[in-house]
Amino acid sequence: MSKKIAILGLGIMGMGMARRLLQAGDAVTVWNRSPARAASLVEAGARQAESPVDAATGADYVIAMVADNDASRSVWLGPQGALAAMARGKVAIDSSTLDPGWVETLAVEMKAAGVHFVEAPVTGSKVQAEGGTLRFFVGSDPESLALARPVLDSMGNGVTHLGPAGSGAVLKLANNVMAGIQVAAFAEALALVEAKGLDREQAANLLRNGAPGSPMVGLMADRMLARNYDPNFLIPLMAKDLGYGEALLASAGIRSGLAAAARARFLEAEQAGLGDRDIAAVVEPLRQS
Ligand code: NAP
Repeated sequence: MSKKIAILGLGIMGMGMARRLLQAGDAVTVWNRSPARAASLVEAGARQAESPVDAATGADYVIAMVADNDASRSVWLGPQGALAAMARGKVAIDSSTLDPGWVETLAVEMKAAGVHFVEAPVTGSKVQAEGGTLRFFVGSDPESLALARPVLDSMGNGVTHLGPAGSGAVLKLANNVMAGIQVAAFAEALALVEAKGLDREQAANLLRNGAPGSPMVGLMADRMLARNYDPNFLIPLMAKDLGYGEALLASAGIRSGLAAAARARFLEAEQAGLGDRDIAAVVEPLRQS
């Protein structure tokens, strides 16, 4: 039976996720802060809502996929927030990358409203969102996850239940701290071999295929060598994740030099005017030619 699903946030990720839900035959309502972004989804059969609360009215499931804690707070609990329109027993899913402290606060609000809450941050990027191959790091109670699972399965091919709300954010931030550090480290290495006059393709291939290589380094090598910075994952969002990650490490008593150093690289790139470019562009301010 077709499910009534609202999706809040039609950025790079939310757009692909909404499209997958439409392809699955669900009745999809979409909302985005900048309304123009919804046009292609409306053409594909989605209803466009005027606000999060409008989107959530009558929905069985509401999914948020927005930039950060502030955006999540606004779409769920703000003056036009979705939670106010959700009946008891409905399911709220937040797939944004958030700080676990905020996720725990949100879980309390959802519980007070009688709504099932599933935090489900994702790994995978634009291509995986469009292809329905995202992987979800879930924090929730088992009953809520059981209700959300058919919707998650329409958008991805891997659901891992890590514990209560907040657990998904912990693993997601650990994931992105590692990823951000690797991207920044490879950017420095590539800028170094270029500055010293080595054949950059040859050097990059030796690095990516050697011990320091990883799937992330391989992806970045392709983009940095081609100077292809079409957005998959934006520089300010990686800086945000490294900031949340640094604070989380500190809260666990772990002093992080690495997350902070990598974050400084992404902030530098943002200040250089690369805020609407892919994370691979972090190499540009380091390059001498
Ligand atoms: P994006 O393209 O920058 O889209 C961000 C979305 O958040 C847009 O819909 C934006 O609305 C909305 N937004 C920002 N501030 C808002 C606010 N105050 N109130 C309401 N809406 C607000 O980002 P994305 O790549 O889709 O990422 C979405 C989330 O997924 C982020 O938490 C990101 O860290 C995470 N993530 C991204 C990737 C990736 O590879 N891209 C992978 C995994 C996880 P406007 O259009 O109006 O600006």
